[in-house]
Amino acid sequence: MTDIPAAVLAQLAEQAEQISALQAQLADLQLKAALDDDKTRPGRMPRPTPPWHRLTRAERDAELMKLRGFVREIGPLYGHLVKLGNCWQQHPLACVAIEVVGELHLLLFTADRRPPAMLYGQAEALIRVIPGLLQLAERETRQCDKHRTQVPRPAMASGYPGGAR
Ligand SMILES: [Zn+2]
Repeated sequence: MTDIPAAVLAQLAEQAEQISALQAQLADLQLKAALDDDKTRPGRMPRPTPPWHRLTRAERDAELMKLRGFVREIGPLYGHLVKLGNCWQQHPLACVAIEVVGELHLLLFTADRRPPAMLYGQAEALIRVIPGLLQLAERETRQCDKHRTQVPRPAMASGYPGGAR
């Protein structure tokens, strides 16, 4: 067996690096194409973000009803991650975070199809995104002194500051 010249080995190593970089670019393009293609794009389009700061009392009550539904239906799935203070409905940050968790859950976990990109999205959401959002809501509401002395009221009659019209 003859020795392979160093220059050839170096060239082969360089080409291997180029192939690896091209494979990564190809994977990115395939993922992008799959997400942009109506035929392969899974799931539903998330609804627009509620404009929490501009909602009328009736609109806010309707939004809070949806959020209570999210907490009731989806909350148990996330077990120990859900540690909301009782006054969460009076905290805009908690409402925003819970709304995003709910929409994200519907988007990622209730679609008919599950292409590889969505599976990856589920993993990312479970280990990082959803725990982070729920932690925001927890921090905002569990340490709350503002509503501690108030007798808990039904959400339909409560609301939070800044949103009432
Ligand atoms: Zn509070």
